[in-house]
Amino acid sequence: MKLKRTLYFKFLLAYAAFALLCLILISTLTSSWTLSLLTKDRADSLYREASLISRSYATLVYEDRAELSAARSQLKAIDTYISAEVWLLNSSGKVLFNSRQSEDTPPADVYSDFDPTDSGSYYMTGDFYGAFNEEMLSVFSPITSHFRSIGYVIIHMPMSVVIEARNNILLVIYNTFGIFMLFSLLILLVFTLIVYLPLNRIIRAAEEYAAGNMDYRLKVHGQDEMGYLAGTLSYMASEISRSEDNQKKFITNVSHDFRSPLTSIRGYLEAMIDGTIPPENHEKYLVIVKNETERLTSLTNGILELNSLNSRGLILDYSDFDINSCIKQTAETFGGICTKKKISIELILMGDTLFVHADMGKIQQVLYNLLDNAIKFSHSSSIIKVETTEKNERVFVSVRDFGIGIPGDSINLIFDRFYKTDLSRGKDKRGTGLGLSIVKEIINAHKQNINVISTEGVGSEFIFTLSKSAAEEE
Ligand code: ADP
Repeated sequence: MKLKRTLYFKFLLAYAAFALLCLILISTLTSSWTLSLLTKDRADSLYREASLISRSYATLVYEDRAELSAARSQLKAIDTYISAEVWLLNSSGKVLFNSRQSEDTPPADVYSDFDPTDSGSYYMTGDFYGAFNEEMLSVFSPITSHFRSIGYVIIHMPMSVVIEARNNILLVIYNTFGIFMLFSLLILLVFTLIVYLPLNRIIRAAEEYAAGNMDYRLKVHGQDEMGYLAGTLSYMASEISRSEDNQKKFITNVSHDFRSPLTSIRGYLEAMIDGTIPPENHEKYLVIVKNETERLTSLTNGILELNSLNSRGLILDYSDFDINSCIKQTAETFGGICTKKKISIELILMGDTLFVHADMGKIQQVLYNLLDNAIKFSHSSSIIKVETTEKNERVFVSVRDFGIGIPGDSINLIFDRFYKTDLSRGKDKRGTGLGLSIVKEIINAHKQNINVISTEGVGSEFIFTLSKSAAEEE
């Protein structure tokens, strides 16, 4: 749970940090850029005004009273028009005219320190050598005569005007940013819907699975990574639950299959000890007991075999060998029982030799198990056909009998461990139900296939494939 909170919290934190950073950026960098841009822009237009005045009123520098008073009203009009103070300075810094002072009190201020090159530009900001109480933007244009600077027109405008303009622009930026941040909350919403909520459900499911509740249904739809993750997780859970079921079934089967021979052995032995079975009959029953122990042995061997096949990375000892002769050898080992049951094994083999690439020992075991079943489940005096064919670099081996067959609903189960059809139980009491599982494991380990076609009461055919040996071509 802590993780979820952290993830959401981190996202919110990142969002807040982003907003804060942007605000700081706007209030510092953007603000000062805007101010300097606006100042320059304002200075430009004031400069145009100042140079116009300097050209039109150049002669005022000669302090001709009449001329000054004539120009006064016009310059005052300009002052009002541009809301800025217009000054006229002579070359020694004496103020000849100030648009904000009345005619009666001619300005007597002298700004001998004034040096237009001070600011390195045509304008400066500040209190203009102590003349103002507030910060001013002062723009100056020289009055020239015969290529000589004889005075200056200076226009002063309070910086508060520029600052106010800057503030208005900043306000627009802040508002836009606010709207932008509101919209970007949509991202948070999308994040919540497509990441956070599904992730919550996945974590919940993972916790349920960890607690052993494999039946918990995880509902996350969608084709994105979240959907994929959820799908994988539920698949994993169903696989675990399936393998748990199998495990349980396996143990039940093993216990059952071990218990029945043990019960019968115990029964016979007890009967012999307490005299229920008279000593003259002992030998007969001891043979039965021996058979039962043999069944137990083959059961144990089967389980051990399956376990070794099952263990990951089963090492196959591949070689190229003649499957035809392998079939012949295996068939011969059943000679005795075949004669007894009057069963004949017919071999229909392709070519004299047919080389395959596989683990010979394991394939022999496959053939042995299949033939063993075919004989077990054949009626006496019947025939079993073993056939080899070849197609597309693969060899098909078929073992076919005309015995009891397999009921349709059991076909998919016969390869399961310990499975025996009801039909076969009466006919084969010693079977363990492991033979076909071993066959399947071996064929799968070879990355080959095994199939069965069977009709109840008619017979069965098991067909498996092997890869043809490349060496044989030469
Ligand atoms: P078992 O040791 O019982 O033969 P298998 O795994 O070899 O174990 O076979 C599982 C079951 O499949 C058998 O018990 C039988 O019911 C059925 N089966 C296998 N082969 C045949 C066959 N050729 N004909 C009929 N049933 C068969």
